[in-house]
Amino acid sequence: FAKRRNDKTFAIYSDFMDAKARELLSLENGLRTAVDNGEIFMVYQPKVHVASNQIAGAEALVRWLHPELGLISPVNFIPLAEDSGMIVSIGEWVLRESCFQARRWQLMGYKDFKIAVNVSIRQLHEPDFISTVKSALHDSELPPESLIIELTENMIMENAESNVVKLQKLNDLGAKISIDDFGTGYSSLSYLQRFPLDQLKIDRSFISEIVSDSSPAPIVKAMISLAHDLGLSVVAEGIETPEQLKRIQLLKCEEYQGYLCSKPVIATEFQTLLESDYRLQA
Ligand code: C2E
Ligand code: MG
Ligand code: MG
Ligand code: MG
Repeated sequence: FAKRRNDKTFAIYSDFMDAKARELLSLENGLRTAVDNGEIFMVYQPKVHVASNQIAGAEALVRWLHPELGLISPVNFIPLAEDSGMIVSIGEWVLRESCFQARRWQLMGYKDFKIAVNVSIRQLHEPDFISTVKSALHDSELPPESLIIELTENMIMENAESNVVKLQKLNDLGAKISIDDFGTGYSSLSYLQRFPLDQLKIDRSFISEIVSDSSPAPIVKAMISLAHDLGLSVVAEGIETPEQLKRIQLLKCEEYQGYLCSKPVIATEFQTLLESDYRLQA
């Protein structure tokens, strides 16, 4: 009896695994044609200059509108794209699309507009990566210093030595480099100094508790002063309330992103934000 029950359990479990595997496989197949089918698109979230409350640029974030499943979060499909290698072609599309869009906004008069693009480690290690960036800049006519490449702290601290070389090449092109999700990984302080970095983004998890007076504030404070001592500018991620903004302003954070200003929106909506010369009430 016990054996039969185990068999049954196994059968259910195995069906479940099959269903899960089939789902992933079909998602992966769908992703293969998603770019060509126009299912992949970009949204943009303002990066706001704290002192002036003006939009300094945007972070480009990818979205997938699946014909049957609807909108799929990058949290769910980027890992799939990384595992299958599709991140290389998707990433190239993302980079080009973002550079062209940023250039259009510059030509509309927002001439110092900066665009930040997320790049995964798989892309960074592609032999063609540097030339892909170079052609995206060349073809879009976006000045290299208007492009910020965002790499997560976790990602660049792994195989740090070989990443130093890659980042140096990006830096030589004139592009800016930002460390994303800072504080969630383990940074070697000596590498922080050796990487040619421009910006550090403090992870949202630190910001969400910044006003509940006690513990996280000293940590955020320390991260900001470390960044400034290294000559980096600081972006606070995930600012949702005026109180949080006030805090990071006192801590001399240069820029912020978050729902307080806007969630990520499609290009036409972003343009409306730009045109209204978005300013927050003090
Ligand atoms: P990330 O680069 O750290 O992007 C910030 C994420 O925080 C975005 O989620 C954004 O919508 C969200 N966010 C911004 N402000 C707030 C806020 O005030 N409150 C809350 N709760 N969330 C906020 P999203 O767009 O879902 O992207 C998730 C992650 O997926 C990104 O984290 C990034 O790691 C990855 N990703 C997105 N687009 C790309 C891409 O084009 N290429 C690669 N390689 N990764 C991407
Ligand atoms: Mg990012
Ligand atoms: Mg981030
Ligand atoms: Mg984050």
